[in-house]
Amino acid sequence: MPNSDSTRPHLLDSLDESLSAWAAERGAPAYRARQVKKWLFEKRAADWEAMTDLPKALRADLAERLRLWTATIAKHTRAEDGTEKLLLTLADGGQIECVLLRDVGRRTICISTQVGCGMGCVFCASGLGGVERNLSAGEIVEQMLQLQRLLAPEERLSHIVVMGMGEPLANLDRLLAALEYARRRDGLAISSRRITISTVGLPPAIDRLARHEQHYRLAISLHAPNDELRNRLVPVNKNIGIDAILAAADRYFAISGRRLTFEYVLLADVNDGPEHARQLGRLLAGREALVNVIPYNPVAGLPYRTPTAERREAFRGILESAGVRVKFRHRKGSRIDAACGQLRRSQLAGSVQAADFA
Ligand code: SAH
Repeated sequence: MPNSDSTRPHLLDSLDESLSAWAAERGAPAYRARQVKKWLFEKRAADWEAMTDLPKALRADLAERLRLWTATIAKHTRAEDGTEKLLLTLADGGQIECVLLRDVGRRTICISTQVGCGMGCVFCASGLGGVERNLSAGEIVEQMLQLQRLLAPEERLSHIVVMGMGEPLANLDRLLAALEYARRRDGLAISSRRITISTVGLPPAIDRLARHEQHYRLAISLHAPNDELRNRLVPVNKNIGIDAILAAADRYFAISGRRLTFEYVLLADVNDGPEHARQLGRLLAGREALVNVIPYNPVAGLPYRTPTAERREAFRGILESAGVRVKFRHRKGSRIDAACGQLRRSQLAGSVQAADFA
C-alpha cells in the first residue's frame, strides 16, 4: 500500500535542515544528526528502530516527526547477471523504477527523476503516457538508499547514472540537491566523476549545469546524425536542433574538462545504416567524446527492432574508422525489463513476466 501519511515531512527532502531543526528543538547535541546520517548512508538502516546507538526515546521522537521512507517496493526483480530492479510506489500512488547493475568491480545504480517523461522519444517506454510530475529531492535520494540496501555488506556503490525515467534536466534543482548527498563525504561519498547525468539535450539547462560548482559527467542522447531524423525520433529536437546541442555540449566540456558521452540507440532500418554512421562520424570527429551505442531493448506495442549483430558491427567499424571512440553497451537485465519505463508499463498493463523476487 502506498504510504499516504503526508503529515510528517520527508527527512530526505532536506536532511540537514530537518535534523538540525529537530536537534535544536529537542536540545539534542549536534552529533545526533551525524549519527542518523551514518546510519542511513553507511550502515544502510532499514528504519529508525535500527539506529541503536540513539536512545530509544529519541528514535521514537524522530519517527513521530519525520518520515524516513515515502515509497513502498511494489516489485523487486533480479536477473541472473546480478541486475536488480525496483518498482517503487510513491506516496501519491505514482510509480517509478530504479536499477542496480553489477559489473566486475562496479556497483552502479540507475535512478529516475520524474514520474513518466515529457520528451516523447518515439521508441521509449517511459514517455508513452507523458510526464506526471517531477520527483522531489527526497524521492531521488530514497531510490539511492533503497538500492544500496540490496547490496551485500561487503559491496559498495561505486557509480550513479541518472538514466531512469524522466528528463533529468527538466527537474534540475531537485536532482542537484539529491546528488549533493550522493557526493558528500557524510553522504554516499561517490565522486562527481562517477556520476553521469543523461539528457535529451536541453541547452539552457546544460549551461546551468556547467555553472554548477560540481561537474558531473554528461551524456547526451543523440540517436540521429541529422535534424530531419532526430526530429522524428526525439520530437523535442524540433525546437532545439543538433547544432545548438553540440554547441552547449562543447561549452560544457570546455568548462568542466569532463569527456562527453553521446548515446545512440540503434534501431533496425531507422538510424543504423552505413550512411548514418558516416554522418555521425563527421559530426563528432575531433571532439573529445565517446559514443555509447545501445542496442534497442524492444518495448511491447512499439514497432522498433534491434539491428542484427552484422549491422551493429558495420556501424561500429565506420565510426571507428572516422576516428570516433565507440563503446557498445551490453544489454543487462533485459529479461527483467530493466530498460527505462518498461517494468512500470508492464505493471500498468498487468502483464509482468519477470521472475518475482520480493
Ligand atoms: N531523458 C534522459 C534520460 C533517460 S533515458 C535521456 O534522454 O537521456 C536513458 C537512455 O536510454 C536514453 O539514451 C534513452 O534514449 C535510452 N532508451 C530509452 N528507451 C530505450 C530502449 N527501449 N532501449 C534502449 N535504450 C533506450
